[in-house]
Amino acid sequence: MEACQQEFRRETQERNLVVHLWFRSYFSWRWAALCLLGLAVGACVAHPTGSQRFEYFRIQMGTRVQIILYADSEELARQAATAAFERIQNLDEILTDYNPESELMRLCREASRRPVPVSGDLLSVLDRSLGVSRITDGAFDVTVGPLVALWREARRTKRLPERRLLAAARARVGYKNVLLDRETGSVKLRISGMKLDVGGIAKGYAADQALAVLKGHGILRALVAAGGDIAVSGAPPGKVGWTIAVQSPAVAPGEKMALILHDCGVSTSGDTEQFVEIRGARYSHIVDPKTGRGVRHSATVTVIAPDDTSADALATALSVLPPKQGLKVAESQPGVAALIVARNGDQLRSYVSRRMQSYMSRH
Ligand code: ADP
Ligand code: MG
Repeated sequence: MEACQQEFRRETQERNLVVHLWFRSYFSWRWAALCLLGLAVGACVAHPTGSQRFEYFRIQMGTRVQIILYADSEELARQAATAAFERIQNLDEILTDYNPESELMRLCREASRRPVPVSGDLLSVLDRSLGVSRITDGAFDVTVGPLVALWREARRTKRLPERRLLAAARARVGYKNVLLDRETGSVKLRISGMKLDVGGIAKGYAADQALAVLKGHGILRALVAAGGDIAVSGAPPGKVGWTIAVQSPAVAPGEKMALILHDCGVSTSGDTEQFVEIRGARYSHIVDPKTGRGVRHSATVTVIAPDDTSADALATALSVLPPKQGLKVAESQPGVAALIVARNGDQLRSYVSRRMQSYMSRH
């Protein structure tokens, strides 16, 4: 994919605020911590190409999916958006852990006994997941399922998981226990009782795939947002990119900054909604595969990457890694930029990768 072009920009009054993308409302304004708010710019304004702006929403993959696209006719726009939503629906059916009969759940049950042939999508998601595990030293790990289940239970009961349960779950976690054979398109799991959880990458992959469907329909200027996972293709007519506003401790209070993006993905992970506080400690729904514990230091992480599959998985991984290590990973990957907001007790501190920093304009 074409290299991502981004820059931070102050919002200007020329902006036509048309739509709020999914918005992680944050908790305490005092901390002015990070949230993402997508703003489609310049919409509804007549422009030389004559293409029009269309916008659609559905609830899918447990979140709000939004498609904004430019097309020359409503019929084309509707057909393309319908096909893109269907693609996401189809992926959800393959990847969900809510249905024990999904392809992913069946794989978990059967693949410890024998290699199981899987669909191209499942193979791709697992392949990409393992790739991110390798570059993040296992901070991203699709085998965290047993640990995620324990921390979900902890959120419900407000009690820490028992030590012996944590130990038993950890014994079933480890991405190196997933044996993926690209030649035969099959997957084997080395330990029985493993549970794959693609929650940290599936929405990014779905956003990328939906964007590809739109391209297949000749739609080259579009944005797909699956919750906080956003994939964009070409810029809106007459614009250099899609505008995504960012509020963060990295930005002075009251000041608004924006990312202008095209042909890339941007994802935000955070403990803003899903966390549990037990005996004064706050645990995220993102789990550190090395310790088995809900992450405690990370508030929010925003990653820009050449595609949203990478952005989604890296945002999860950088929530686990110590911030400085996370920055190193971001610096080492082509086209990747990161903004990490880390928690230290009551304090929040932001870490900005060089590439991200170079796009920030402060006034
Ligand atoms: P969200 O889904 O809240 O937008 P993420 O993309 O960061 O945020 O995904 C979090 C989900 O990823 C968790 O709910 C869980 O299903 C899964 N997960 C948790 N910890 C990890 C991890 N270390 N590696 C990979 N996936 C994880
Ligand atoms: Mg993620």
